[in-house]
Parts: sequence; C-alpha cells; structure tokens
Amino acid sequence: MHRFFAKKVRVKDTACIISLAPLKNGDYSFLFTIEGELFRENNFDDIHEADLKAIVTFTKNSPIMMFHFNIEGTVTVTCDRCGDDFKQNIHLERQLIVKTDSKEHNEDDEMVSLTSGEKDIDIAPFVYQYVVLSLPMQRIHGNDREGNSLCNAEILKKLKKLEVKKSNEEQYMSNGGMHSSHTEKPNN
Ligand SMILES: [Zn+2]
Repeated sequence: MHRFFAKKVRVKDTACIISLAPLKNGDYSFLFTIEGELFRENNFDDIHEADLKAIVTFTKNSPIMMFHFNIEGTVTVTCDRCGDDFKQNIHLERQLIVKTDSKEHNEDDEMVSLTSGEKDIDIAPFVYQYVVLSLPMQRIHGNDREGNSLCNAEILKKLKKLEVKKSNEEQYMSNGGMHSSHTEKPNN
C-alpha cells in the first residue's frame, strides 16, 4: 500500500520532517513545498526565492532504507550577464541511504545514520544541499524561442557599447597610442 503525504513548509519553520517511528512497513511518498526561506535561513544569498516541490519516496521494511528525492521547480537567482533576477529551472534526482538503530548519529552526502532515539528525519538540509550543489557555476538568462537572449535588453546594449569602446581602446594602445598618426581615436 502506497501512502502519500503532502506538507507545506511554513515560513520560519523550514524543517521537512518525516516521522519514521509511527510508519508501518510499506511504501511512502512525502511531498514538501520548499520556499526561499530555506536558503535565506542558511544565509545562502545566491538564491533569492524558491518555488520547489520535493518528493521523497521510500519503502519502510528494514533498518536500511533508500530515500529517493525528486526535486522540481525554480529558484530565483541573479543573471551573471545583465544583473537582473531570473528563474533558474531545477530538476534533480538524488538517493540517500537512511539507516536507523545506529549507535551514533552520522551523516554525509550519501548516507545518514539515525540512533534508536531518533524517531524523525529532517530532509530539509539534504534538499538544501542538493539544490545548492546543482546550481550552474555561470547563471545566465536563457533564450526565447527565436534564439534571442532574455537578458535585460537595455543592459545588453550598454554592455555592447562598453565592449566596442574597450576593443577600440585596446587597438589604439596596441597601435602605439598617441604616437601613431594612423590610429583613429575611439568614439565616446
Ligand atoms: Zn540576463
């Protein structure tokens, strides 16, 4: 029997708790809604807002369980090119081994060991980590269907002007600057 739980993460309480103790053996799915608060609370300033759904699926039938994470949605980040905010798509799947009845609490990227006294698991730190690590190094607006950049058009224009000016100046300098009579002065 498959049970489905949907939980809303409240602002100021970003914990995504799954209480393992009361669950009978069987298959489970938990749905959590993740908002920007999770990232702000951890002082991760790169993500301004978030609209994510995290589905955690597992089978409870032994002290060692495999938790499957499916995280989908968007996070709002700043574009490295134009400086405007945009929504970066997130779609990732991860697996986490959850051991219960361990002698001591332990956790790393792939496994968490809970002691017999720990009846709950908070999956929020894992969601946080998976999402942060999945962000591309360079975050730039995508293109529309015609292949045009979705960056702020005004900023792009200004950037283009600056690039032209810079390349003119570089050419000016490499031609000997003031001493060369053949060099045109850059247009300002
Ligand atoms: Zn942009």
